[in-house]
Amino acid sequence: MPVTDPVKLEIVYNRVLNKMVCRKCGALNPPGAKKCRRCRSKNLRPKKKGAGFKR
Ligand SMILES: [Zn+2]
Repeated sequence: MPVTDPVKLEIVYNRVLNKMVCRKCGALNPPGAKKCRRCRSKNLRPKKKGAGFKR
């Protein structure tokens, strides 16, 4: 059963996409992280929004 409530969808988007991804090892880090929690690299990028998420 798909989620249709736009308010809930907004919350889900933020929960799922509000993360930092390590460019070195690919680990997911909490938003606002300065260093990777696995390899301690500072090479982090914010997780991209949009692609892969369909309505
Ligand atoms: Zn890493």
